[in-house]
Amino acid sequence: MKTIIIIGGGFAGAKCAKDLQNKFNVILIDNKNYFEFTPSVLRVLVHPEHANKIESLHKNYLKKAEIIIENVKEIDKEYVYLKNKKIKFDYLIITSGSQYKLPFKQKNCIMNMRSHNLKKYNSKIKDSKKILIIGGGVVGVEIASEIVEKYNNKNITIVQNNNELMPRNNNKTKENIKTYLEKNNIKLIFNNKIIDSKNNTYYFNDGKKINTDLAFYCTGIKPNYDFMKKTFSKYINKNHFVDVNEYLQLKDHKNIFIGGDIANINEEKLAQNAEKHAEIICKNIINLEKNKLLKKYKSKKRIMVISLGEKIGIAEYKKYSLIGKIPAIMKKFIEYKTMKNYK
Ligand SMILES: Cc1cc2nc3c(=O)[nH]c(=O)nc-3n(C[C@H](O)[C@H](O)[C@H](O)COP(=O)(O)OP(=O)(O)OC[C@H]3O[C@@H](n4cnc5c(N)ncnc54)[C@H](O)[C@@H]3O)c2cc1C
Repeated sequence: MKTIIIIGGGFAGAKCAKDLQNKFNVILIDNKNYFEFTPSVLRVLVHPEHANKIESLHKNYLKKAEIIIENVKEIDKEYVYLKNKKIKFDYLIITSGSQYKLPFKQKNCIMNMRSHNLKKYNSKIKDSKKILIIGGGVVGVEIASEIVEKYNNKNITIVQNNNELMPRNNNKTKENIKTYLEKNNIKLIFNNKIIDSKNNTYYFNDGKKINTDLAFYCTGIKPNYDFMKKTFSKYINKNHFVDVNEYLQLKDHKNIFIGGDIANINEEKLAQNAEKHAEIICKNIINLEKNKLLKKYKSKKRIMVISLGEKIGIAEYKKYSLIGKIPAIMKKFIEYKTMKNYK
């Protein structure tokens, strides 16, 4: 049986491991021992009891695959290198995703520690009167909304470095979000950015400063690409995303596939896109084995659902935007359906 090594057990890697484990000798290498439904981490920060609903140990859904909880140090065209050994592969799937500032994502972690850390952040939120959110993208907006729904005694400020929130969303969504946050007394500061901080003081670009009890950096992602630097640096672009062809193969390499946040594909870095990549990668490995034509990945606009606390959400599709209870229910359903697959 051929060996497939998968690096990273997030949305893309976990799906590949689950779907391929009965057909190949699958080895999942992840530096954490669980799958996490990242889109609901922000909920857990204010409702820590929700943690057990969004995390599941890899061993729960991988009955056949081998699981190695370690950090991949390096790879080349034939081997994956760990601290004390190297493993040969027939196919390699790189789904090492991206880093986000703590507490939103955490690496080198076991599930119990993760729950404990999220609880600690919850206590910090509870104890803080003034909360600063740096970055007004989806994550910044979601965390502000979760906090304001649960606690009515906080002064929350979002700082955004241009003149609108969630700049990559459609105009209707941007308008809905701005109205919703202002109605909930969240202070919005546009066209300014935090350039420095000392203790609890944060300094703006324009020389002003703000004191806060707690700050969250919601300023975007950084791909986890370090282990590729030595052999494959020419395929890593200036923002550290990895170049892929239309079949999601690493450019010039038939047996190495790239999926999820780390792939250099011009689209939103979303869990649902990572899952689509996994589908194509699995299909293409099976097709390669059967000498069949490979399937192309086509990026397209899908419905995007964001929760603004437990009761309200927003759903966007192309130029449409809906805010209210229905998107909140949709998001809960997506979480339930995903986690059912990984229990
Ligand atoms: C706070 C937040 C909210 C979000 N909300 C939404 C949402 O509402 N909807 C949506 O669709 N998307 C959302 N996203 C985006 C979504 O979470 C990502 O697009 C998705 O997680 C990407 O999946 P992935 O498989 O590429 O990588 P990841 O989920 O990042 O998983 C990669 C895995 O690889 C591991 N890894 C990395 N390097 C190594 C190494 N060297 N060795 C071993 N293991 C390694 C990591 O620890 C991790 O386990 C959100 C993201 C964040 C941070």
